[in-house]
Amino acid sequence: MLELTDVQKSFDGFMAVRDARLTVEKGAVVAVIGPNGAGKTTLFNLITGQLTPDRGAIRFKGESIAGLSAHAVCRRGISRSFQVVNIFHRMTVFENVQTAILSRRRMGFRLFRPARSMARKETMAILESVGLSDKAGRVCGQLAHGDQKVLEMAIALGNRPELLILDEPTAGMSADETSVALDLMRRLSEEMGLTILFCEHDMEMVFSIAHEIMVMQAGQTLIQGNPESVRADERVQAAYLGGG
Ligand code: ADP
Ligand code: MG
Repeated sequence: MLELTDVQKSFDGFMAVRDARLTVEKGAVVAVIGPNGAGKTTLFNLITGQLTPDRGAIRFKGESIAGLSAHAVCRRGISRSFQVVNIFHRMTVFENVQTAILSRRRMGFRLFRPARSMARKETMAILESVGLSDKAGRVCGQLAHGDQKVLEMAIALGNRPELLILDEPTAGMSADETSVALDLMRRLSEEMGLTILFCEHDMEMVFSIAHEIMVMQAGQTLIQGNPESVRADERVQAAYLGGG
């Protein structure tokens, strides 16, 4: 579904991403791991059109998307959440998700005024699927951090993506919030067939959910493989897993 080869991006001569490779199969849950500054967020920004690569290929469903605008990438079926929560704090939970749905429909059917009642149904369905329907009327700035992160996933789902990209989806969450978010990711994958690409610091979380893991170090892809092969890799053990 998604394939990156030899992707490179530098900022004022500093190479944040160099020779990054990544393959995401349809239906898979793929994690990118690596220490702070490894280039994970930059890589996601390159995929979703926030940044343009200096070099390399980014192919989604067989077509090049490198250099497309964020808007165009989204329209092709890739939607994302951000490492730092990115929601409209003064709007309600409902309005945040509805806005995503209305803007998607405007993209798709320019000639039609979108029916708000249809968007309402779809909004509530998404809020139900992520477990936020009882908080639909709450103002977002007042939500707990965990709920804000989940809301960001709900907003991304409003774009009806085929590939969902999550930048540290459980960052700053309590253990309880993390397990709720993990359950949600599992359901999105297993019940809704979504393909998920995410990066995360919490190794326990990564190994409990990912089908494939790509390890980044100083902007480069060290290895990509299934959790067993990544866990067994000596370089990975030395760098991240402290020998086990
Ligand atoms: P990660 O998400 O793995 O922690 P990032 O992709 O955020 O890593 O950052 C990779 C490196 O690129 C870091 O050294 C960071 O300081 C640098 N970097 C990221 N974005 C920019 C930018 N817009 N300008 C300059 N340097 C940047
Ligand atoms: Mg990051």
